[in-house]
Amino acid sequence: MALTITGLSKTYPNGVKALKNLSLTIGNNMFGLLGPNGAGKSTLMRTVATLQDPDSGTISLDGIDVLKEKNAVRKLLGYLPQEFGVYPKLSALDMLTHLAVLKGISSSTERRDMVDTLLRQTNLWEARKKALSTYSGGMKQRFGIAQALLANPKLIIVDEPTAGLDPAERNRFLNLLSSIANNVTVILSTHIVDDVRELCPRMAIISNGEVLLEGSPAESLDAL
Ligand code: ADP
Ligand code: ADP
Repeated sequence: MALTITGLSKTYPNGVKALKNLSLTIGNNMFGLLGPNGAGKSTLMRTVATLQDPDSGTISLDGIDVLKEKNAVRKLLGYLPQEFGVYPKLSALDMLTHLAVLKGISSSTERRDMVDTLLRQTNLWEARKKALSTYSGGMKQRFGIAQALLANPKLIIVDEPTAGLDPAERNRFLNLLSSIANNVTVILSTHIVDDVRELCPRMAIISNGEVLLEGSPAESLDAL
Protein backbone atom coordinates (compact mmCIF):
# COMPACT_ATOMS: atom_id res chain seq x y z
CA MET A 1 0.00 0.00 0.00
CA ALA A 2 1.27 3.48 -0.81
CA LEU A 3 -0.53 6.66 0.07
CA THR A 4 1.01 9.72 -1.54
CA ILE A 5 -0.19 13.12 -0.42
CA THR A 6 1.11 16.08 -2.43
CA GLY A 7 0.72 19.79 -1.84
CA LEU A 8 -2.48 19.62 0.18
CA SER A 9 -3.93 22.93 1.34
CA LYS A 10 -7.15 23.73 3.16
CA THR A 11 -8.43 27.03 4.50
CA TYR A 12 -11.75 26.93 6.37
CA PRO A 13 -14.38 29.61 5.71
CA ASN A 14 -13.42 31.29 9.01
CA GLY A 15 -9.92 31.88 7.61
CA VAL A 16 -8.12 29.11 9.56
CA LYS A 17 -5.39 27.58 7.39
CA ALA A 18 -5.62 23.97 8.56
CA LEU A 19 -3.29 22.49 5.89
CA LYS A 20 -0.49 24.39 4.19
CA ASN A 21 0.93 22.75 1.07
CA LEU A 22 1.38 19.50 2.98
CA SER A 23 3.12 16.52 1.36
CA LEU A 24 3.59 13.10 2.94
CA THR A 25 4.14 9.51 1.81
CA ILE A 26 2.80 6.65 3.89
CA GLY A 27 3.73 3.02 3.27
CA ASN A 28 3.00 -0.26 4.99
CA ASN A 29 2.57 -1.23 8.63
CA MET A 30 1.68 1.46 11.17
CA PHE A 31 2.30 5.13 10.51
CA GLY A 32 2.09 7.63 13.34
CA LEU A 33 0.75 11.11 12.68
CA LEU A 34 1.75 13.07 15.73
CA GLY A 35 0.84 16.66 16.47
CA PRO A 36 -0.76 18.94 19.04
CA ASN A 37 -4.46 19.78 19.04
CA GLY A 38 -5.28 22.04 16.14
CA ALA A 39 -2.30 20.86 14.04
CA GLY A 40 -4.54 19.74 11.18
CA LYS A 41 -4.49 15.97 11.78
CA SER A 42 -8.26 15.49 11.66
CA THR A 43 -8.57 17.70 8.60
CA LEU A 44 -5.90 15.62 6.88
CA MET A 45 -7.50 12.31 7.91
CA ARG A 46 -11.01 13.37 6.89
CA THR A 47 -9.58 14.45 3.53
CA VAL A 48 -7.84 11.11 2.98
CA ALA A 49 -11.06 9.35 4.03
CA THR A 50 -12.87 11.28 1.21
CA LEU A 51 -15.17 13.05 3.67
CA GLN A 52 -13.87 16.51 2.94
CA ASP A 53 -12.26 18.22 -0.08
CA PRO A 54 -9.06 20.23 0.11
CA ASP A 55 -8.63 23.55 -1.73
CA SER A 56 -5.69 22.14 -3.68
CA GLY A 57 -3.34 19.17 -3.79
CA THR A 58 -3.56 15.51 -4.76
CA ILE A 59 -3.80 12.20 -2.92
CA SER A 60 -3.07 8.84 -4.48
CA LEU A 61 -3.76 5.44 -2.92
CA ASP A 62 -1.94 2.72 -4.86
CA GLY A 63 -2.34 4.81 -8.01
CA ILE A 64 -6.03 5.65 -7.42
CA ASP A 65 -6.88 9.35 -7.39
CA VAL A 66 -8.48 9.63 -3.92
CA LEU A 67 -10.08 13.03 -4.53
CA LYS A 68 -11.76 11.88 -7.75
CA GLU A 69 -12.46 8.17 -7.37
CA LYS A 70 -14.12 8.40 -3.99
CA ASN A 71 -16.25 5.28 -4.25
CA ALA A 72 -13.28 3.12 -5.22
CA VAL A 73 -11.29 4.52 -2.31
CA ARG A 74 -14.08 3.99 0.22
CA LYS A 75 -13.98 0.27 -0.53
CA LEU A 76 -10.29 0.14 0.36
CA LEU A 77 -10.40 2.20 3.50
CA GLY A 78 -11.68 1.96 7.06
CA TYR A 79 -12.01 5.16 9.07
CA LEU A 80 -12.51 5.38 12.81
CA PRO A 81 -13.31 9.01 13.64
CA GLN A 82 -12.57 10.63 16.94
CA GLU A 83 -16.17 10.46 18.09
CA PHE A 84 -17.22 7.02 16.99
CA GLY A 85 -20.98 6.51 17.27
CA VAL A 86 -22.63 3.10 17.59
CA TYR A 87 -26.23 1.90 17.46
CA PRO A 88 -26.70 1.52 21.21
CA LYS A 89 -29.37 -1.18 21.24
CA LEU A 90 -27.62 -3.71 19.05
CA SER A 91 -24.98 -6.15 20.23
CA ALA A 92 -21.59 -6.44 18.55
CA LEU A 93 -22.66 -9.82 17.18
CA ASP A 94 -25.89 -8.46 15.66
CA MET A 95 -24.24 -5.36 14.28
CA LEU A 96 -21.35 -7.19 12.62
CA THR A 97 -23.72 -9.83 11.22
CA HIS A 98 -25.95 -7.10 9.84
CA LEU A 99 -22.98 -5.36 8.23
CA ALA A 100 -21.82 -8.66 6.72
CA VAL A 101 -25.26 -9.04 5.13
CA LEU A 102 -25.04 -5.51 3.75
CA LYS A 103 -21.63 -6.37 2.40
CA GLY A 104 -23.29 -9.10 0.36
CA ILE A 105 -22.00 -12.17 2.17
CA SER A 106 -25.00 -14.41 1.62
CA SER A 107 -23.69 -17.68 3.03
CA SER A 108 -24.65 -17.79 6.71
CA THR A 109 -21.75 -20.14 7.48
CA GLU A 110 -19.25 -17.79 5.89
CA ARG A 111 -20.82 -14.85 7.73
CA ARG A 112 -20.66 -16.61 11.07
CA ASP A 113 -17.03 -17.59 10.58
CA MET A 114 -16.06 -14.07 9.63
CA VAL A 115 -17.92 -12.41 12.50
CA ASP A 116 -16.67 -14.94 15.06
CA THR A 117 -13.08 -14.42 13.94
CA LEU A 118 -13.41 -10.64 14.26
CA LEU A 119 -15.06 -10.86 17.69
CA ARG A 120 -12.22 -13.05 18.98
CA GLN A 121 -9.53 -10.95 17.31
CA THR A 122 -10.84 -7.79 18.99
CA ASN A 123 -11.37 -9.46 22.34
CA LEU A 124 -15.13 -8.90 22.29
CA TRP A 125 -16.17 -12.53 22.20
CA GLU A 126 -17.45 -12.68 25.77
CA ALA A 127 -19.41 -9.44 25.38
CA ARG A 128 -20.66 -10.25 21.89
CA LYS A 129 -24.34 -10.51 22.89
CA LYS A 130 -24.43 -7.41 25.08
CA ALA A 131 -25.85 -4.12 23.82
CA LEU A 132 -23.19 -1.74 22.49
CA SER A 133 -24.51 0.94 24.87
CA THR A 134 -23.12 -1.09 27.78
CA TYR A 135 -19.59 -1.20 26.31
CA SER A 136 -16.72 0.73 27.85
CA GLY A 137 -14.82 3.28 25.77
CA GLY A 138 -12.12 0.75 24.97
CA MET A 139 -14.65 -1.89 23.94
CA LYS A 140 -16.35 0.60 21.64
CA GLN A 141 -13.02 1.44 20.03
CA ARG A 142 -12.24 -2.25 19.53
CA PHE A 143 -15.69 -2.73 18.06
CA GLY A 144 -14.88 0.14 15.68
CA ILE A 145 -11.83 -1.79 14.50
CA ALA A 146 -13.88 -5.00 14.05
CA GLN A 147 -16.38 -3.07 11.97
CA ALA A 148 -13.63 -1.47 9.89
CA LEU A 149 -11.92 -4.84 9.31
CA LEU A 150 -15.13 -6.46 8.11
CA ALA A 151 -14.89 -4.40 4.93
CA ASN A 152 -11.47 -5.96 4.31
CA PRO A 153 -9.68 -2.63 3.81
CA LYS A 154 -6.09 -2.00 2.75
CA LEU A 155 -5.86 1.07 4.95
CA ILE A 156 -7.35 1.90 8.34
CA ILE A 157 -7.28 5.41 9.74
CA VAL A 158 -7.77 5.88 13.48
CA ASP A 159 -8.09 9.40 14.84
CA GLU A 160 -7.09 9.93 18.50
CA PRO A 161 -8.21 6.41 19.42
CA THR A 162 -6.75 6.22 22.91
CA ALA A 163 -8.06 9.55 24.24
CA GLY A 164 -10.14 8.81 27.30
CA LEU A 165 -9.10 5.15 27.64
CA ASP A 166 -7.69 3.88 30.90
CA PRO A 167 -4.16 2.39 30.77
CA ALA A 168 -5.33 -1.23 30.51
CA GLU A 169 -7.80 -0.43 27.73
CA ARG A 170 -5.20 1.66 25.96
CA ASN A 171 -2.71 -1.21 25.97
CA ARG A 172 -5.32 -3.65 24.74
CA PHE A 173 -6.31 -1.28 21.94
CA LEU A 174 -2.73 -0.55 20.86
CA ASN A 175 -1.89 -4.26 20.86
CA LEU A 176 -4.86 -4.85 18.60
CA LEU A 177 -3.65 -2.14 16.22
CA SER A 178 -0.16 -3.56 16.06
CA SER A 179 -1.50 -7.07 15.39
CA ILE A 180 -3.63 -5.90 12.46
CA ALA A 181 -0.82 -3.72 11.07
CA ASN A 182 0.84 -6.89 9.78
CA ASN A 183 -1.85 -7.16 7.12
CA VAL A 184 -3.41 -3.71 6.84
CA THR A 185 -1.74 -0.30 6.81
CA VAL A 186 -2.79 1.67 9.88
CA ILE A 187 -2.53 5.45 10.24
CA LEU A 188 -2.59 6.36 13.90
CA SER A 189 -3.34 10.05 14.41
CA THR A 190 -2.65 11.18 17.95
CA HIS A 191 -1.19 13.87 20.19
CA ILE A 192 0.23 11.17 22.53
CA VAL A 193 3.95 10.71 21.89
CA ASP A 194 4.13 7.32 23.59
CA ASP A 195 1.44 5.81 21.34
CA VAL A 196 3.66 6.51 18.35
CA ARG A 197 6.98 5.71 20.00
CA GLU A 198 5.82 2.26 21.06
CA LEU A 199 4.14 1.15 17.87
CA CYS A 200 5.00 2.98 14.69
CA PRO A 201 8.07 2.18 12.58
CA ARG A 202 7.49 5.43 10.66
CA MET A 203 5.98 8.71 11.73
CA ALA A 204 5.53 12.38 10.92
CA ILE A 205 5.08 15.33 13.20
CA ILE A 206 2.62 17.90 11.97
CA SER A 207 2.11 21.33 13.40
CA ASN A 208 0.20 24.32 12.06
CA GLY A 209 -0.83 22.41 8.94
CA GLU A 210 2.75 21.56 7.96
CA VAL A 211 5.02 18.52 8.25
CA LEU A 212 7.81 19.36 10.66
CA LEU A 213 9.63 16.03 10.59
CA GLU A 214 9.29 12.62 8.99
CA GLY A 215 11.16 9.46 9.88
CA SER A 216 11.43 6.71 12.47
CA PRO A 217 10.39 7.60 16.04
CA ALA A 218 14.02 7.27 17.15
CA GLU A 219 15.19 9.87 14.61
CA SER A 220 12.16 12.15 14.86
CA LEU A 221 11.54 12.18 18.59
CA ASP A 222 15.21 12.57 19.49
CA ALA A 223 15.35 15.60 17.19
CA LEU A 224 12.69 17.40 19.22
P1 ADP B 1 -6.22 18.33 14.91
O1 ADP B 1 -6.97 17.13 14.49
O2 ADP B 1 -4.73 18.20 14.76
O3 ADP B 1 -6.60 18.80 16.28
P2 ADP B 1 -7.91 19.83 13.11
O4 ADP B 1 -7.74 19.38 11.71
O5 ADP B 1 -9.10 19.38 13.85
O6 ADP B 1 -6.56 19.54 13.91
O7 ADP B 1 -7.94 21.42 13.14
C1 ADP B 1 -6.96 22.24 12.47
C2 ADP B 1 -7.41 23.67 12.60
O8 ADP B 1 -8.56 23.87 11.81
C3 ADP B 1 -7.81 24.08 14.02
O9 ADP B 1 -7.44 25.43 14.17
C4 ADP B 1 -9.32 23.90 14.02
O10 ADP B 1 -9.95 24.73 14.95
C5 ADP B 1 -9.66 24.30 12.61
N1 ADP B 1 -10.86 23.61 12.12
C6 ADP B 1 -11.08 22.28 12.06
N2 ADP B 1 -12.26 22.01 11.52
C7 ADP B 1 -12.81 23.20 11.21
C8 ADP B 1 -14.04 23.59 10.62
N3 ADP B 1 -14.93 22.69 10.23
N4 ADP B 1 -14.26 24.89 10.46
C9 ADP B 1 -13.36 25.80 10.82
N5 ADP B 1 -12.18 25.52 11.39
C10 ADP B 1 -11.90 24.22 11.59
P1 ADP C 1 -10.45 17.68 16.09
O1 ADP C 1 -9.43 18.72 16.50
O2 ADP C 1 -9.96 16.31 16.33
O3 ADP C 1 -11.00 17.87 14.72
P2 ADP C 1 -12.38 19.29 17.32
O4 ADP C 1 -13.03 19.17 18.63
O5 ADP C 1 -11.42 20.40 17.03
O6 ADP C 1 -11.67 17.89 17.05
O7 ADP C 1 -13.47 19.34 16.17
C1 ADP C 1 -14.71 18.70 16.30
C2 ADP C 1 -15.58 19.15 15.11
O8 ADP C 1 -15.72 20.58 15.09
C3 ADP C 1 -14.97 18.78 13.79
O9 ADP C 1 -15.98 18.33 12.92
C4 ADP C 1 -14.34 20.04 13.27
O10 ADP C 1 -14.39 20.09 11.85
C5 ADP C 1 -15.22 21.11 13.87
N1 ADP C 1 -14.43 22.31 14.19
C6 ADP C 1 -13.25 22.36 14.84
N2 ADP C 1 -12.80 23.61 14.96
C7 ADP C 1 -13.74 24.38 14.37
C8 ADP C 1 -13.86 25.78 14.16
N3 ADP C 1 -12.92 26.64 14.56
N4 ADP C 1 -14.97 26.22 13.55
C9 ADP C 1 -15.91 25.37 13.14
N5 ADP C 1 -15.85 24.04 13.30
C10 ADP C 1 -14.78 23.55 13.90
